[in-house]
Amino acid sequence: MLKNKVAVVTGSTSGIGLGLARQLAAAGADLMINGFGDAAEIEALRQELASTYGVRVAYNEADLSIAAKATGLIESTLRELGSVDILVNNAGIQYVSPVHEFPLERWDAVIAINLTAVFLTTRAALPGMKERGWGRIINIASVHGLVASADKAAYVASKHGVVGLTKTVALETATSGITCNAICPGWVLTPLVQKQIDALAAKENISTDEAKTKLLSEKQPSLQFASPEQLGGLAVFLCSDAAAQMTGISLPVDGGWVAR
Ligand code: NAD
Repeated sequence: MLKNKVAVVTGSTSGIGLGLARQLAAAGADLMINGFGDAAEIEALRQELASTYGVRVAYNEADLSIAAKATGLIESTLRELGSVDILVNNAGIQYVSPVHEFPLERWDAVIAINLTAVFLTTRAALPGMKERGWGRIINIASVHGLVASADKAAYVASKHGVVGLTKTVALETATSGITCNAICPGWVLTPLVQKQIDALAAKENISTDEAKTKLLSEKQPSLQFASPEQLGGLAVFLCSDAAAQMTGISLPVDGGWVAR
């Protein structure tokens, strides 16, 4: 379905981004992967993705907290793979602290990676998409783009910002064959969430399993984590013709979190 399309997935060396990259490659898209990690492990992953799915896979190490690198990720993809047809803005970080103690440098880092980088990659990818008359921009926001939780000021602000940016880009591209949508996951078990589970277990002196159950029962009525594969399936759907008239929306995948 996505043969001859090139997908850039930011932050795809682990977690949700890797799940999204796998599903897009399984649907036939060539890939530009990005993110941090051990160089040898990333090269092994690059080769494994290429051979498993029979697609071209390149890697770019851009640190998206640096504006020139975020733009450079798109420029490198155009040079190495020829186009950017699908842009999945997935890279994101979290920092947990009450507002009155929130360090400015953590605020700046969260906003830079979770929000400003989304603006920069989108700005760089749009001219080519417009020229080709087709494009899919999928922003991995969060339920925290729709509702808030205490102690996550920068994350909640950045994800609400992504939801707003998604709507603006959708309006600006509405007649261009381009769609721009956000996916809003609830809890997904990835390294980012594992850190919060470990912190909760340590703080409350409970086991990791108990901490997982506590985390889920506070917010996610299904009491189950969403999976990177499920999010990948939704991303592939958003790239399909069936979704060509869906734009500017934010889709929760959250086991009922925002239904409460
Ligand atoms: P993760 O920590 O497992 O993966 C994050 C990825 O981003 C990694 O590949 C990492 O190397 C990369 N990354 C981090 N900083 C980067 C930077 N400066 N430049 C380039 N790459 C960078 O996290 P995850 O849980 O898979 O989260 C992915 C996205 O999903 C994030 O935007 C996150 O906010 C969002 N999300 C996650 C959950 C969840 O429950 N895990 C829920 C809602 C939304």
